[in-house]
Amino acid sequence: MSRFWSPAIQSLVPYTPGEQPQVEGLIKLNTNENPYPPAPAVEAVLRNFDTERLRLYPDPECLALKQALADNAGLTHDQVFVGNGSDEVLALTFMALLRQQQPILLPETTYSFYNVYIDLFDIDARHIPLTDQYRIDLEAYSGENGGIIFANPNAPTGISIDLKTISALLERNTDSVVVVDEAYVDFGAQSATQLVNHYPNLLVVQTFSKSRSLAGMRVGFAFGHPQLIEALERVKNSFNSYPLDMLAQQTAIAALQDETYFDQSIQRIIDTRTWTTTKLESLGFEVLPSHTNFVFTRHPDIAATELMQYLRDNKILVRHFTKPGIDNHLRISIGTDEEMQALISCLKSYPGI
Ligand code: PMP
Repeated sequence: MSRFWSPAIQSLVPYTPGEQPQVEGLIKLNTNENPYPPAPAVEAVLRNFDTERLRLYPDPECLALKQALADNAGLTHDQVFVGNGSDEVLALTFMALLRQQQPILLPETTYSFYNVYIDLFDIDARHIPLTDQYRIDLEAYSGENGGIIFANPNAPTGISIDLKTISALLERNTDSVVVVDEAYVDFGAQSATQLVNHYPNLLVVQTFSKSRSLAGMRVGFAFGHPQLIEALERVKNSFNSYPLDMLAQQTAIAALQDETYFDQSIQRIIDTRTWTTTKLESLGFEVLPSHTNFVFTRHPDIAATELMQYLRDNKILVRHFTKPGIDNHLRISIGTDEEMQALISCLKSYPGI
């Protein structure tokens, strides 16, 4: 620690290194990556890429990608923002839109990065507990506030909220920006994208990392009113006017084109999620209803830390959170059928299951 570090910097803990061990032969079910490769069109882009073009700067506006995203969503390109993974889009959102006079509202249990940004940018926040069913209680998000952010489906619980409830929230909070982080929405939840033209205060954030299998390319995006998008562009430009490299832009466009491949790989993951849930329940686990590519689960008689260590000893990585209230749960990403079979047989061999 240095005497030059502010309290916000002192409290920062690097997140990813421990979750991304660079070791071969592990079954990696800890960071919700997609077990299947991106669409074949992505490979074609990479194979045919003219390396000579790398001496040029990429398009700073990412216009072709914004247009492709807009076409896909039935919006216009000025309603689209893109960034280096949705983590960057979210960080810029906190800086550009969620730093107001009033505290922002967010769930007490949700994606942990929101609190990192809150601390880093010194944002006043009010954390609202989940219900005892681990659901986000949107009814409680009202009164004066400086903005609202939540993940739908929520992480790490996997539970989603329907659009009617989100519309009602938007109706109640017309004076503040409502950010819906839809990193996992494609795995069975309803997207608020269709509400963007009705609510100028709505920002929907999504990513290519999960349903489009492009975590390695780091592409995230947001849909919203052009004025919200312009706020994000202004802040982004102050840091780096080239948000995405050339390959990220081109592969993302390719990943959007093959809807058949997209639908098939989503369906495979949903089917494997159903299989995994049934198997876990048959072993005595409680599993929350998931609309994501992971399940959140606990065994009533065995500590999650012990199960996590046992799986790790058998080269299977899953995620455990130390936060009170969810500290006896494991979050398990949905991998291939073979990976999930390996997980289930490993758990079966645990003494007491
Ligand atoms: N939002 C949520 C809820 C997430 O779980 C994640 C992935 N950890 C992200 C955003 C960020 O994803 P990415 O930066 O890869 O787009």
